[in-house]
Amino acid sequence: MIFENNLTTERPTFTSHLECGMEGDRYEADTLHGLSKAGKPLLVRYDLDGVKAAVSRDDLMHREPDIWRYRELLPVREIENIVSLGETMTPLIELGNIQKANGITGQILIKDEGHLPTGSFKARGLCMAVCMAKELGVRRMAMPTNGNAGSALAAYCSRAGIESYVFCPEDTPEVNVREIALQGAKVWRVNGLINDCGKIVGEGKEKMGWFDTSTLKEPYRIEGKKTMGLELAEQLGWQLPDVIFYPTGGGTGLIGMWKAFDELEALGWIGSERPKMVAVQATGCAPIVKAYNEGVEHAELWPDAHTVASGIRVPIAVGDFLILRAVRNSGGFAIAVDDDVIDAARVEVAHGDGLLLCPEGAATYAAYKQALADGRISKDDRAVLFNCGSGLKYPMPAIDRTLDRHQPIDYDALG
Ligand SMILES: *Cc1c(COP(=O)(O)O)cnc(C)c1O
Repeated sequence: MIFENNLTTERPTFTSHLECGMEGDRYEADTLHGLSKAGKPLLVRYDLDGVKAAVSRDDLMHREPDIWRYRELLPVREIENIVSLGETMTPLIELGNIQKANGITGQILIKDEGHLPTGSFKARGLCMAVCMAKELGVRRMAMPTNGNAGSALAAYCSRAGIESYVFCPEDTPEVNVREIALQGAKVWRVNGLINDCGKIVGEGKEKMGWFDTSTLKEPYRIEGKKTMGLELAEQLGWQLPDVIFYPTGGGTGLIGMWKAFDELEALGWIGSERPKMVAVQATGCAPIVKAYNEGVEHAELWPDAHTVASGIRVPIAVGDFLILRAVRNSGGFAIAVDDDVIDAARVEVAHGDGLLLCPEGAATYAAYKQALADGRISKDDRAVLFNCGSGLKYPMPAIDRTLDRHQPIDYDALG
């Protein structure tokens, strides 16, 4: 598969304007934007009638299996601004053994995002953010990150010839920090959490000439993450699943998929049915779950956030209301799982079906089981669980078994 190939065809784009996700006021396309005047995320809007006239579901079949197959629903205008590292479609993998062992009559499908560049689904969002930054003349980008977003930003910026500055909590997995540096960003460990790192970016951006690429503080990461929803619909024959479990930090993917479904319905490519959207968090950092349970629209800062699932250790999210709206409008729910249950789920899926999930992905399986047990979903449901990154990037349980080749081997003891 040659990824540059399919990018050389003529492509119109259909972006009409941007819109505040809270107030709905309009902003011009093709100019650099951060948050709206109300301090809320901006959403990209398209001329969907134009898209409908230009492309059909069947046209997609002749395109490369990557995110650019949905180009009419993406914001990049000029082909030369596409910065690509091979954003491949990711597989949906059935947990066949686990289904059988548990009498699941529906399906458990893992959307395995570990196949993407830099080993996580952050590539979808940051690819789009960097393409648009290039298109709009940005020279320096900065972000706070728990790891995966930083490595994706670093990689795409290096490829685009843009400088990148990255700030991580000091306990960010070592592999992430090193990866970020090796991909060409300037990276610092900060003695705080991701929101503390975000403050450093916010306060320094004017002086440093940074474009603030924090989650949802620029409009295009959502568009990249939206491709998860487009892909899912296409892969399932334009029939959405019954329920989607999404490990929720800043919530970009959940918001993006929800937006994708609305756009697909407007195109007439899917109907009005929607999956239950389930926001999965860890009990050590569950601001969205708390807000969901309390019936409020905004989540409060979660104090002393901690969890092994570092990608969802996000104590406060600027798009909280968009996550909560999608969850509620879909008839879904928000659910928190304990770290030890996450670890056990990771082992169960690896042993049972040969898939090494990241802890955040394992959290979705733990949440699936919990929701099945408490009756919020059923065994007949077709469930899609997001494994957002390669399990290989995360610490694994140590192994201390050794063999001395100079001694006779007791083979019976190996069995
Ligand atoms: C960033 C990240 C998440 C959370 O994604 P959001 O869209 O910010 O909610 C989940 N898992 C992993 C592995 C991540 O890197």
